[in-house]
Amino acid sequence: MDTTFDNIRHYLEEVKEIDQLSSQEVKQLSNPQRIKKATLKINGKTYPAWRVLFNDALGPGKGGIRFHPQANQDEVVSLSFWMAIKNALAEIPYGGAKGAVKFDPKKTSLKEQEAISRKFIDAFYPFLGPDKDIPAPDVYTNSQTMAWMLDEYEKKVDHHEPAMITGKPLSLGGLKLRADATAQGGFFIIQEMIKTYHLSKSHLQIAIQGFGNAGSNLAQMLDKNHFKVVALSDSQGGIYDKNGLNIPAVKKVKEEKGSVVFYSPEQLVSNQEILELPVDILILAALENQITEKNADKIKASYIVEIANGPVTYAAEKKLFSKNITVIPDVLANSGGVIVSYFEWCQNKTGNILTEDYLAKLLKEKITQNWARVVSLQKEYRQQIGLKTVAYLLAIRKILTAEKLRGRI
Ligand code: NAD
Repeated sequence: MDTTFDNIRHYLEEVKEIDQLSSQEVKQLSNPQRIKKATLKINGKTYPAWRVLFNDALGPGKGGIRFHPQANQDEVVSLSFWMAIKNALAEIPYGGAKGAVKFDPKKTSLKEQEAISRKFIDAFYPFLGPDKDIPAPDVYTNSQTMAWMLDEYEKKVDHHEPAMITGKPLSLGGLKLRADATAQGGFFIIQEMIKTYHLSKSHLQIAIQGFGNAGSNLAQMLDKNHFKVVALSDSQGGIYDKNGLNIPAVKKVKEEKGSVVFYSPEQLVSNQEILELPVDILILAALENQITEKNADKIKASYIVEIANGPVTYAAEKKLFSKNITVIPDVLANSGGVIVSYFEWCQNKTGNILTEDYLAKLLKEKITQNWARVVSLQKEYRQQIGLKTVAYLLAIRKILTAEKLRGRI
């Protein structure tokens, strides 16, 4: 079976063909610049940890830190590659990076999580910094994790350095907008998609896999804007009601009982079934590798929005493309989070204070332009290549231009 990075290699091969890249250029894009690995030791227990800088041609590394029991190097390297692509595509002056610690936060006390967060900084701080590599939250890390990491980093360097990490609490230099920026960006992309493909909003049936930070905020935004969300799921299973779910009520049940499955819907569905429902838009907001060669043929949605990183594999995307199913790529659809992280970093570095309203407008403007550039390049190729390949093309051209200007290739 393909590893997660094998999926990336397939896209690189496609881009190589289209743009006639040299083998040196492909080599540069296939290998991370720096992989740092450490074993964090706390009270006799050990935790494998990674920080990977994939590429810094366009600026300092940027990417989140994930706490997850299945974290592994292939995943961290792949996520750092996607960050490089996402940042280049969004036209923000960052390279790509990512970090992870392998453990189960659900079974770990907050005190231990704090110790792990501080040890992560102890292990990697020489490679981090506002002009080197800037972490942020990812799966099972949050603003509190960032606060511990910032505090530990500032102890090491002996001065304040809020721009070394983003996704911080408001009182430590974070932005209110950051909390739901990924969902907000995804929402803007869905609105653009509807305009571009002339869809009728009132008739759309939407299913969302994943009801965490990104998925639940997006569900609420869609609901407030009178879209019909008919299915939702989390790690325990899914719920479906073709007449539309009451999102505030589902959110309450999730908060009180821990899962959407305790809400009484018309129908309970499994994690597999929710992907195969007869909906128009399927939003994937959980984990990678959810639609693969095995289930791609069973997908009935016409549009798939990747809010998670890498939820559709390369082989699956090709099958979906041949069936005329449009996949809106992760590197575009979930870039709202890193765009707002960039605003936070700018504010921390300059000391300027910009209003949240202004930044919200800027996010919309930026992500809308990014959508337009991707759709327009796809038109140049007469719709013969999928949006994901187009997004990779645009980003890779930018990275390679920077690499050449620097004289690295
Ligand atoms: P989260 O941990 O808050 O939520 C993940 C959700 O997915 C949870 O509800 C969990 O129960 C659910 N889930 C796990 N396995 C599932 C399964 N098999 N079927 C259905 N649901 C399942 O994480 P998040 O921050 O919402 O991130 C979700 C995805 O979006 C990740 O891939 C992350 O890398 C990506 N992403 C998040 C952000 C962000 O700012 N939050 C930014 C960019 C990308």
